[in-house]
Amino acid sequence: MVHEWALAEAVVRHVIDIYSDKKIREIRIGLGELQNIDENILLFSLKELFKLNGLENVSIHVRKIPLTLLCRSCGFEWKPDISKLGEEIIEMIHFIPEAVHSYIRCPRCNSGDFEIISGRGVYLEEVVVE
Ligand SMILES: [Zn+2]
Repeated sequence: MVHEWALAEAVVRHVIDIYSDKKIREIRIGLGELQNIDENILLFSLKELFKLNGLENVSIHVRKIPLTLLCRSCGFEWKPDISKLGEEIIEMIHFIPEAVHSYIRCPRCNSGDFEIISGRGVYLEEVVVE
């Protein structure tokens, strides 16, 4: 909860700073699958914080960004299903995203040398203003 609230605070402050002279209608947030953030708590925190700032009518959308990997050996790109890894491992990956290298291999060439090309971090994707 603390984590989500702090993140929501940073987002709301940033948006209000940038668009202080505009009416904010809508914001869209991309949430990486590897990020240890609860979507519903984040959404709730954003709503509350906008309300505290007198902006209760902002519509908020949070979209999960799936984990996408790119193999450095053969160039194969894929979206692994991390839900198959089991709860303990998933939890560890949420804390240490790099740990994903220990549990996933390229399905084409079996290499463990791959890049995480999406699914990390939290992004403010779009702000709609008037
Ligand atoms: Zn490969």
